Amino acid sequence: MTPHEREFTCPDCGREIPVTEAMLEATLRHGCPVCGAAVESSQPTA
Ligand SMILES: [Zn+2]
Repeated sequence: MTPHEREFTCPDCGREIPVTEAMLEATLRHGCPVCGAAVESSQPTA
């Protein structure tokens, strides 16, 4: 069984990275794994 993959696109370096839901959450938390840029969640915060 494979978890549903999402695709994360870094707004800074433009790298497209296939990630799982958990990896996406970690990426949003810690930043881009490629360039280390801070990444904002696209989820509404209001
Ligand atoms: Zn990046």
